[in-house]
Amino acid sequence: MISTDLLIIGAGPTGLFAVFEAGLLKLKCHLIDALPQPGGQLTELYPKKPIFDIPGYPAINAGDLVDNLMEQIKQFQPGFTLGETAEIINKLEDGTFEVISNKGTVHHAKAVAIAGGLGTFEPRKPLLENIEKFEENGVEYFVKEPEHFRNKKIVIAGGGDSALDWAIFLSDVASEVTLIHRRNEFRGALDSVEKVQALKDAGKINLITPAEVVALKGDSHISAISIKSNDEIIDIETDFFIPLFGLTPKLGAIANWGLEIEKNAIKVNNALDYQTNIDGIYAIGDVNTYPGKLKLILCGFHEATLMCQSVYNRINPGKKYVLKYTTVSGVDGFDGTRKEAEKAVVMKID
Ligand SMILES: Cc1cc2nc3c(=O)[nH]c(=O)nc-3n(C[C@H](O)[C@H](O)[C@H](O)COP(=O)(O)OP(=O)(O)OC[C@H]3O[C@@H](n4cnc5c(N)ncnc54)[C@H](O)[C@@H]3O)c2cc1C
Repeated sequence: MISTDLLIIGAGPTGLFAVFEAGLLKLKCHLIDALPQPGGQLTELYPKKPIFDIPGYPAINAGDLVDNLMEQIKQFQPGFTLGETAEIINKLEDGTFEVISNKGTVHHAKAVAIAGGLGTFEPRKPLLENIEKFEENGVEYFVKEPEHFRNKKIVIAGGGDSALDWAIFLSDVASEVTLIHRRNEFRGALDSVEKVQALKDAGKINLITPAEVVALKGDSHISAISIKSNDEIIDIETDFFIPLFGLTPKLGAIANWGLEIEKNAIKVNNALDYQTNIDGIYAIGDVNTYPGKLKLILCGFHEATLMCQSVYNRINPGKKYVLKYTTVSGVDGFDGTRKEAEKAVVMKID
């Protein structure tokens, strides 16, 4: 069992920044995310896009913002349960919570912050007759561990950034990479399209367009796919088929936790601390709703900050917290590190 002060469901920018604010208050955090990596929408949907409305950054790539957030919270040693979905929540008699993931991991926490964004991302699956049979047997909707594909034949289908980026990355890992798209044009970052062109020219990516996968073949594990290209059916031998057709967000199990939901978002008390209708469960970032709500990263950061103050008071009843500027108090990491501005010295000048 994993025990923590604050359990954060969702490791997007809001959840990550909450770890920092909680750390300043000496609260230990653990995060659960259904995705195999932290960063939420920024990592999954637009890692290479520049964001222009993060205070203090005239422009920062989404992926770099996530890296910076991870660097900023490192000192507070958060725990992560990645690749697992928070499915069940039980409020215990003493007011603490137990959250159980879809893989049976049990987390115990004094408070819970749902930072689940638009929900878990469900892959858009191609409509192929026997695709379920091959899930986990050669059909993969996410690239969780690139080494899994070392020296294997893979077929990637899709025309967006994910398909392009993984085709580029895996061309150095897999023994054979085929990229299939139903159009001749790709919709992605210009440098990714150019890299794929260069890798195709160098014979490292086998590009087939316009083409569509029409059948999957194999016994217990996939062994080939059939594609239709210019009215011709072609079979391609492969060990893996990776359809990257985008993701649909779903609130999922959280919607059944007894929380007040409005238009697929969790209602919170925005006048105070972003608490939900269940005492001890907070909702911050894109997942919540209140009058005037804006689904912006900087709003999530603000909500995370106020939520942590409330969690502190909940965990330390009667203990008064006095807000201190980090420039004055410095930052004491749980790893023994200390960051502080140079102190003024009292010295006589001759
Ligand atoms: C293309 C695009 C461009 C954008 N540009 C900007 C911009 O320029 N500026 C800006 O401010 N905002 C922008 N946004 C919006 C911004 O990305 C969101 O406001 C932000 O990601 C919200 O962060 P979050 O942490 O609340 O949620 P998310 O980033 O959505 O992260 C939520 C995480 O929770 C996880 N999760 C959900 N449910 C569960 C569960 N039950 N168990 C486990 N894990 C769960 C999900 O897997 C996800 O990783 C953009 C969004 C998109 C799609």
